[in-house]
Amino acid sequence: MKEFKVIEDFFKQQSYQRKDVIIGIGDDGAITHIPEGQALVTTTDTLLSGVHFLPSTSAHAIAQKAIAVNLSDLAAMGAEPAWISLSLSLPEIDKVWLEEFSRGIREHAEYYSVQLIGGDTVHGPLAVTITAQGFVPYDQALTRSKAKPGDSVYVTGSIGDAGVGLQLAQLKRKINNQEHHDFLVNRLDYPTPRLLVGTSLRRVASGCIDLSDGLISDIQHILKASQCGAVIHVDKLPLSDAMVASVDPDEAIKFALSAGDDYELLFTVSEEQKGLLETNLANANIQATCIGQLTGLAEKLELRQNDQPYEFSNLGYEHF
Ligand code: ADP
Ligand code: MG
Repeated sequence: MKEFKVIEDFFKQQSYQRKDVIIGIGDDGAITHIPEGQALVTTTDTLLSGVHFLPSTSAHAIAQKAIAVNLSDLAAMGAEPAWISLSLSLPEIDKVWLEEFSRGIREHAEYYSVQLIGGDTVHGPLAVTITAQGFVPYDQALTRSKAKPGDSVYVTGSIGDAGVGLQLAQLKRKINNQEHHDFLVNRLDYPTPRLLVGTSLRRVASGCIDLSDGLISDIQHILKASQCGAVIHVDKLPLSDAMVASVDPDEAIKFALSAGDDYELLFTVSEEQKGLLETNLANANIQATCIGQLTGLAEKLELRQNDQPYEFSNLGYEHF
């Protein structure tokens, strides 16, 4: 099967169509319309076999995770997703795999109202690169550089789950409770981009980032860009029921601090905006937990447990 046949059979007939796409798959480039008053946000992420997913991960999960991690970046910018492009490197043309993979893409495109508008298909080691684009009203994007000392630090949902999920998937850990096991592995394979959180934080949050490499690693990007420090209370980190039930408390904190792949949002809010934050979170039925405060000590991250210093050295996932 030739490259064009793969595109034709698996990607061209994508079901979700948007009115703002003038030309989608099939020409040399896609043409799209950007609404008046909106800024375009563009992000790219690659998933590599053996680095971002295990050889045993299903094609369906790989497809959906590739979309989710990109939409998570858009969420962290406060943007609403619109279009995705897919660059696919395949070691072979495996029709069953491609069927599952393209179904994963189609379902997520439909669910998140995004259209697949193009891509590239090449022969090589298994790698999936997605570029996602979306809109945010001018001046309302959430960035890393405008947080201030005194702002409160929040995280959504629960953290550390995907780290435990990875150990379960690698058979390095065992949990007898099937429901907890499945929950944790699903947090690894099927992350949820916090898009509603992102848009609810427009004009409310002073800074925002998604947690892909682990809390300790990711928060430093805000501290560096905003020239702030932070005090984080490890006893306040939000842990899932599955985590609490299956991992001992000290280890759970370590997962929550340093494991990646949760794709929750970490954001900062000034004292003045807290009322509006509470209202917006309640209206959107979003769970977020205050885990600490920013300080004036540039780039200094202090961890505390029950108000005592907490020693910790693991700095999260680094590729190089
Ligand atoms: P070109 O040689 O001009 O780059 P291609 O043959 O690579 O064109 O692609 C033909 C069309 O199919 C283009 O519109 C391209 O964006 C789209 N396309 C290629 N691969 C994919 C893919 N994996 N998913 C979605 N669209 C794709
Ligand atoms: Mg090409």
